[in-house]
Amino acid sequence: MADSDRAPEIEVEGLVIRYGAVAAVGPVNFSVTRGEQLTLLGPSGCGKTTTLRAIAGLERPTAGAIRIRGDTVYDASRRINVPAERRGLSMVFQSYAIWPHMTVFENVAYGLRVRNASAAEIDDKVRHALDLVKMGAYASRNASQLSGGQQQRVAVARACAFSPKVLLFDEPLSNLDAKLRAQMRIELRELQHRLGVTSVYVTHDLEEALAMSDRIIVMRGGHIEQVGPAADIYNYPRTAFVADFVGSANLISGRLRADLARDGLIALEADAGRILYGEARGREAGPTPTMSVRTVHLQLNSTQPTASINVWPVRVRRTVFLGDLTQVHVEWGGRELVVRQTASTAPAEGSTAYLSIDPARCVLLEADAATEAEQAPPPPTAPIVADLPIE
Ligand code: ATP
Repeated sequence: MADSDRAPEIEVEGLVIRYGAVAAVGPVNFSVTRGEQLTLLGPSGCGKTTTLRAIAGLERPTAGAIRIRGDTVYDASRRINVPAERRGLSMVFQSYAIWPHMTVFENVAYGLRVRNASAAEIDDKVRHALDLVKMGAYASRNASQLSGGQQQRVAVARACAFSPKVLLFDEPLSNLDAKLRAQMRIELRELQHRLGVTSVYVTHDLEEALAMSDRIIVMRGGHIEQVGPAADIYNYPRTAFVADFVGSANLISGRLRADLARDGLIALEADAGRILYGEARGREAGPTPTMSVRTVHLQLNSTQPTASINVWPVRVRRTVFLGDLTQVHVEWGGRELVVRQTASTAPAEGSTAYLSIDPARCVLLEADAATEAEQAPPPPTAPIVADLPIE
C-alpha cells in the first residue's frame, strides 16, 4: 500500500458539540484513512449523527477541529468554518430526499446542474452514476414510481455523481425491509470498494456495521468506547458495554488468580470455584474483574473433550429455537451461561453435557467507567447539621 493510501482523509480533533446545557458529543478524536469505510455505531442518542453532520458542515461544533485531506474545514479556535457545499463531500440520508416530481435522471443531475456542469458532462456523469447502482434502465422514470430500495439507489447515485472525495451515510438503509437491507449493504460495500472512496457510515445496526466496515467506532453517550476492525470489535470487546451492544456475550466476573496463570493465559476464579482461563490482551482489570465470552464461542459436547482447561460438565436447563441458531441455557457453577449453536440437534432439557470454551475466546474486559459509576453507591451526603450553630 502506498503511503498516500494511508494518509488520513478526515481528521477529527477534540470535537465537542453542545446544545445549550446538553453535551451531545465529545471530546472525540479519530481519523479516517483514504479509501476506508468507517462506521460510527452506537445506540440511539449516542451522538453518531451529530458527529457525521459536523463533518458534513451541517452542524456547528462547539470546539475542536476537522480537516479533510489536510485542509482545515472547521477550527473553533481559529474561527474557520467552511460551508458544507465547499467541503467536497456528499451525504446520503435515511429519508432518500429525492424529488418525486422529477425523473430519475433529473434527480441525479441536480447537483451537477447546480455546479454549472455542461450538458455533455451531466449526461456522462449521470449515466455512469446510474449504472453504478444498476438503475441505468430507469433514467426516464418518474421518481415517484420507484420502490424504496430503488429510491435509495437513486439517492446513492446522486451522491456519487460529482465524484466526491468523501461519502457520508446517515442510516441510509433503515427505511428498507430486512431482506432488502441485507442486499443493499452488500451492494453499497461493493460500490465503495469499486470507487475506492472514503466513507463514513452511521448506523445502530450491528450486522450492517460488521458487514460493511473496515473499521468501527463504537460510541456511547457522546464518547468513543472502542475503535477497531469489525472482527476485533466483535472478538475482543474492550468493555462490558461493547460486549453487550456488539452481539451477545456471557459476562463472567470473579477474582483473578495470578498463582494459576499459565501459558500466557490469565485465570479467573468465578462462582463455585470454577476457574476460567482467558486472555488479558494487555488490559487492566477493573475493580470487578470480568471476562467476556460470546455466546457462539461456547461449545456443548455429548462426550468429554480432551482439553485440560475450560471444560466442565453442565446441566441443560432450557433450549430455545431461534431458526438459524438454537440457544441453550446451561447451569454453570451456580449461574446460567447462554450457548448459541447452529447444530440442528440441541441437547435435551435436563440432560448433562460437557461445556468447553477455547481460552482464546475468553477476553478480559477493562473497567467500564460509565457502568461502574452507575453502579457505585452514591457519594456520602454531607452532614447537614454539623455546621449549624448549636443553641
Ligand atoms: P439516533 O440513532 O437516534 O439518530 P444518534 O446517536 O445519531 O441517535 P444524535 O442524533 O447525534 O444521536 O444525538 C446526540 C444527542 O444530542 C442526543 O442526546 C440528542 O437528543 C441531542 N441532540 C441532537 N440534536 C439536537 C438539537 N438540535 N438540539 C438539542 N439536542 C440535540
